[in-house]
Amino acid sequence: MTTSGEQTGPRALTVVREWALWSRPRAWIGFTGATLTLALAITLVSATAVPVTAHHLQTFAILVLFAVCSTELSRKIERQRRTLSPGIHVNMTSVWVLPGSFLLPPQLIAVLVTTLYVYLGFRSWAGVRPGAMHRTVANTTTVTLSGLAAGLAGQVDFGQASPALSICAAALTYFATNTVITGMGLYLAAPEEATVSGCLGDWDDNVLELSTLCVGGLLIAVMSYQPILMVLVFIPLHVLQRSVLIKQLEVLATTDQKTQLLNAVTWQQGAEREVSRVEREGGSFGALMIDLDFFKKINDTYGHLAGDDVLKAVAALVKSETRAQDLAGRFGGEEFVALLTSSSKEDAAVTAERIRQRVSELVIHSRDNEGEPVVIVRQTASIGVAAFPLDGSSINEVMASADAAVYAAKRSGRNRVVSSPALDTPVGETQAVAA
Ligand code: GH3
Ligand code: MG
Ligand code: MG
Repeated sequence: MTTSGEQTGPRALTVVREWALWSRPRAWIGFTGATLTLALAITLVSATAVPVTAHHLQTFAILVLFAVCSTELSRKIERQRRTLSPGIHVNMTSVWVLPGSFLLPPQLIAVLVTTLYVYLGFRSWAGVRPGAMHRTVANTTTVTLSGLAAGLAGQVDFGQASPALSICAAALTYFATNTVITGMGLYLAAPEEATVSGCLGDWDDNVLELSTLCVGGLLIAVMSYQPILMVLVFIPLHVLQRSVLIKQLEVLATTDQKTQLLNAVTWQQGAEREVSRVEREGGSFGALMIDLDFFKKINDTYGHLAGDDVLKAVAALVKSETRAQDLAGRFGGEEFVALLTSSSKEDAAVTAERIRQRVSELVIHSRDNEGEPVVIVRQTASIGVAAFPLDGSSINEVMASADAAVYAAKRSGRNRVVSSPALDTPVGETQAVAA
């Protein structure tokens, strides 16, 4: 016979060992552990040193009550937004945490944030990202530390203009702390894939976070005047959430999810607009059709996930080698298209040659089907070049020309650029431009 203690001990240990947390990079685990320890230490020290008054408890209860009502009102939208956010997901908690950080002692700030996140976790996010408990804990910790830092900044004495400046200082400190800790966490989670916008959020993410802080700042003023007026933020918050969801859906409808380039339909629409513009205003544009060479071999050798990493790397390269006003899209499986605005066919061939060269130099770190790290090199691409109006009177005709040029490049040995009309005999690696 075994005691219940003997049974639960090892089983609990097995459960802990199976946490998805342990699959995260060590640096991320260390960083998150350190921030969590800091937040807990501040909370515990404050709990023993800072008195909690009845007024604090009343403020706490009001904030939780309003946060719950607001969450219920926008629950479906929040759930959809969370489902659609692959990276940074800005939620609305700052609206309530900023007033809390200003009006509550540190230990209640921590309890407020934890209460809101537990509530959101059960009501809005349950099942959205299974196994991501450690992320929720990390986010709760980040928001707690941001609230604590904001609380400190809010106590700075600004003399005559004190209340207004203190609210601004608290909001800015909240924003800065949140940005630094979130950015650091995202960087440490995948340093080799880290990008500035991936870690710090894009413009929309940051504007949304600032908007929630602005509303939070107004709530501080409202709470000390007529707390019941806090209901006035429900509808604006709901509309804000809905407009962000619409933006997310718009991005989803126009972007290829694997590569973040334009999807084929959106690329075609953009290209047709460019045809109309050139017809109206004159000039020309170049079009590239880029097809990876022997890409099936990558899938067969390393698996589809490694193949996807190659697609992502090539897509990022096509994006970075073209200008902001160009249209870079994914046409199909391992085929990419680029429309180079205000470019001649010769300009386009130069860009195509640069892309061809860079693709052949790519070093892609991925994992094979067994999860073993692999380094993929010497991936090459064949690129067809055409131009409007030289090679057709519609985008379909121009792309058919570029496509024919790709086939000519494939036939003549791959890893080369061919301009339409395609010649069968390559000259060096880059086919002579035959305009
Ligand atoms: P070629 O040099 O003649 O272009 O040979 P290829 O192997 O690149 O061309 P093929 O058309 O024979 O194969 C394309 C492959 O691309 C087959 C398909 O499984 C793969 N593919 C298409 N879409 C995706 C995707 O999203 N992810 C991955 N990993 N593979 C994809
Ligand atoms: Mg192909
Ligand atoms: Mg191919």
